[in-house]
Amino acid sequence: MNAFAYVTAQTPESAIELARDDGRFLAGGMDLLGELKESLAAPKTLVNVKALPGTADVQLDGGKCRLGANVTLAKLAAHPELRRVLPGLTEAAAEVGSPQIRHRATVGGNLAQHSRCWYYRHRDVHCRKKGGTLCYARQGESKFHSLFTGCMCLSPAVSNLAIALAALDARVIVQRGRSTDSLTVAQLYASAWNTPSAHNSLQPGELILRIEIPAPAGLRSAYLQLSEKSDFDWALVSCSAAAKVTGQTLTGVRVVLGAVAPIPWQVDAANAFLEGKPLTDETARRAAELMLRDALPAGDNAYKLPIARALVRRTLLQLVA
Ligand SMILES: Cc1cc2nc3c(=O)[nH]c(=O)nc-3n(C[C@H](O)[C@H](O)[C@H](O)COP(=O)(O)OP(=O)(O)OC[C@H]3O[C@@H](n4cnc5c(N)ncnc54)[C@H](O)[C@@H]3O)c2cc1C
Repeated sequence: MNAFAYVTAQTPESAIELARDDGRFLAGGMDLLGELKESLAAPKTLVNVKALPGTADVQLDGGKCRLGANVTLAKLAAHPELRRVLPGLTEAAAEVGSPQIRHRATVGGNLAQHSRCWYYRHRDVHCRKKGGTLCYARQGESKFHSLFTGCMCLSPAVSNLAIALAALDARVIVQRGRSTDSLTVAQLYASAWNTPSAHNSLQPGELILRIEIPAPAGLRSAYLQLSEKSDFDWALVSCSAAAKVTGQTLTGVRVVLGAVAPIPWQVDAANAFLEGKPLTDETARRAAELMLRDALPAGDNAYKLPIARALVRRTLLQLVA
């Protein structure tokens, strides 16, 4: 590990200023410290952002939820009111890693975490994600990799929160220099679709401040995932769905798959197909087919297809259960 300076920022502007000269933001450290130890990152400065005022707060009122970037996943998963109003989100948080990880890991760090591809994480492999010329998963071991990609990198987006927040149509508020921008989750990840080296659309020094989530009356949400281990593991495939539910009928529906693409995977045709229809086993199956229509499995990951079909169907059915 290289030597680095460590500073604690008191305002978003100072955090950005302090990170300017080859610095990185540090929140819970669950991802970044691993990268430092494996020599995947060697920043000159670690800028602790956990002291930024108001960023550890959860607010829920007037049909809106605001989550500070430094809310821990443990706090999110255990929040009684959020568990009632946004169960898709709290369940996604509860499924992350292990209790120890959830007590440190933050919302902002979870969204900005880097690839878990085993080639990217190997210090001696210079893959496309590190600016190299090969995606080793294409000819190598692709068990955990994407079914869809717009570029030569097969590393999938594995942030649980990204999947749930995309289904909930959340906005991510990002400080860029002296101004703030409000991004959809799709915008937050768009660059990873066609730029092999991108983990998300954030440029160095852009800071997630908070998440804003609409939580109107009648909204239902759900999240399910399948992993090899019940703890200390990432999802092989995850799914989140949200919609307004009247009787058995869904409106404003969004279904999102995780760990199958470098972005949270949404298919407009599937959402449109479900819109205004009573949800049945058959409509849920049809939506799953639409979501997976263009899948291109690599050598070892075709097993994800039946898992994804089952998760889409079961997650949707949870909305009307
Ligand atoms: C064994 C294990 C199992 C795991 N399982 C899962 C899982 O199932 N699902 C899942 O989603 N994750 C999983 N994770 C990943 C874990 O959730 C993330 O590492 C964690 O959420 C990152 O949050 P953090 O606060 O620790 O981020 P840090 O490690 O501090 O930062 C992560 C990245 O985000 C950047 N960053 C931090 N805060 C901000 C901000 N406010 N604005 C912009 N950039 C920021 C940092 O610079 C860094 O690049 C697992 C991790 C481990 C070690």
